[in-house]
Amino acid sequence: MVRLQQGKVLKAPDQFFMNGDWVAPATDRRIDVLSPVTEERLLSYPEAAPADIDRAVAAARTAFDHGPWPRMPARDRAAALRRVASLITDRLEEIAWAWTTQVGAPISLTRKLVPQNATLFSHYADLIENFPFCDTRHRDDGGEVRVLREPVGVCAAISPWNAPMVLLSYKIAAGLAAGCTMVAKPSPETPLEAYILAECIEAAGLPRGVFNLVPAGRAGGDHLVRHRDVEKVAFTGSTAVGKHIMRVCSDRLARVSLELGGKSAAVLLPDADFAKALPSLMVYSMPITGQVCFSLTRLLVPEARKAAFLDMFLPAVRAIKLGDPSDPATQMGPLAMDRQRTRVEEYIAAGRAGGAMLACGGGRPRGFDTGYYVEPTVFTDVTPDMKIAQEEIFGPVVSVIGYSDEDDAARKANATPYGLNGAVYSADPERGFAFARRMRTGGLTVNGLIVDPKHPFGGYRESGMGREGGPEGLENYLEVKTVHMAG
Ligand code: NAD
Repeated sequence: MVRLQQGKVLKAPDQFFMNGDWVAPATDRRIDVLSPVTEERLLSYPEAAPADIDRAVAAARTAFDHGPWPRMPARDRAAALRRVASLITDRLEEIAWAWTTQVGAPISLTRKLVPQNATLFSHYADLIENFPFCDTRHRDDGGEVRVLREPVGVCAAISPWNAPMVLLSYKIAAGLAAGCTMVAKPSPETPLEAYILAECIEAAGLPRGVFNLVPAGRAGGDHLVRHRDVEKVAFTGSTAVGKHIMRVCSDRLARVSLELGGKSAAVLLPDADFAKALPSLMVYSMPITGQVCFSLTRLLVPEARKAAFLDMFLPAVRAIKLGDPSDPATQMGPLAMDRQRTRVEEYIAAGRAGGAMLACGGGRPRGFDTGYYVEPTVFTDVTPDMKIAQEEIFGPVVSVIGYSDEDDAARKANATPYGLNGAVYSADPERGFAFARRMRTGGLTVNGLIVDPKHPFGGYRESGMGREGGPEGLENYLEVKTVHMAG
């Protein structure tokens, strides 16, 4: 049993799900997961070995080549996805607790976010019911052309630990909707949600081999990505691993979609109302202790109003309530892992050494001797070339950067290799929109921050390729076939 906080209990994973059955692992390899709050072992579960992964891919291959799923009418797939959505809805409280317990994300936040998992399955069910899988067109000679959208084939879905279920649901919901068969490899630190998803898919009665689950670490992920029967890899994770996956897949031209890191900017234009901007900056500059790819980690403020901004922002950051993530009053929990804390502390040291001014935080909070806690940290006097302004820290560390005019703001906003997300604040939303068009990122919000799984999400440049969510997310899993009717 896995003891989630507040007395909730989940069955400890001890098997893998493949070909519609729960099967015993091929080896006795195991992975331990530590609690970010107590630093004690939370669970131990089997790690898939290459033989397990090969078996899962073979099941997905057979289901794709010979099973009913890719060939059934879209409305039947949609009905199955709606059953999955409903079963997920029944388990939202467990899913929220699994997230909070493994990652340290505050329960108040995880409870708010977990319904997105069910939304993704029902969203893709709605989308495929009216999707033009077969689009009839006409040639200049009067003949007919049928443009088909067909599933790519066997897909690997590889996800990170920070938002374990939703980043898997994006892939599985869209891939299944397209008619693909899926092999899921969740992050080794967060297996529980993938098991809940497998149980929901099993209970929804999807055909054998359509969804398969092989939890593993880096080596298992690498084996899966290299597998010749995997025709597409959908990956969310770090830019470094994304580049590696793309290199591996280029050998056989396997399709790849990548959701990678970010260093997103919030630009407060000269006419921005700081007090109105504050609530969303407080939520989205360091969500989940800053371990969210789309966090607004660079705050670009007019130089002339920087002091006024800091007078408002710093007290609000100092007032963030750190604590046990299972307490509904907690606003910020620990980092998810010891190695995350080491990484964040190294970046804080680099910020200091690089000449940035530490305006608040920077250390371990008093009274938290156990757990991977770091204080919410703000650097000022940050210049765009500094390491802390260029690289993804993935922790509660924000840089405040001054700018002289809008051209300078646009230059600075675009001055990293990333391009995932951003926000623009202005008293005039159309002025904000005009500025948003100058930012080279895949997602933006004017006066706030919204990420809605029904709409495309993804990155420019080193933040990734392809989009998840919305019809664009479905296209990730489709090939185009053109059939000319010559007579
Ligand atoms: P990571 O890249 O280390 O691992 C991600 C996944 O890839 C894990 O399941 C891991 O086991 C697997 N993996 C690692 N090496 C692999 C290899 N060689 N071949 C195949 N699979 C391999 O990332 P992480 O530390 O789990 O997550 C944090 C990163 O994820 C951050 O950079 C963050 O920005 C990014 N992220 C991006 C998005 C997005 O949508 N753009 C969302 C969340 C997180």
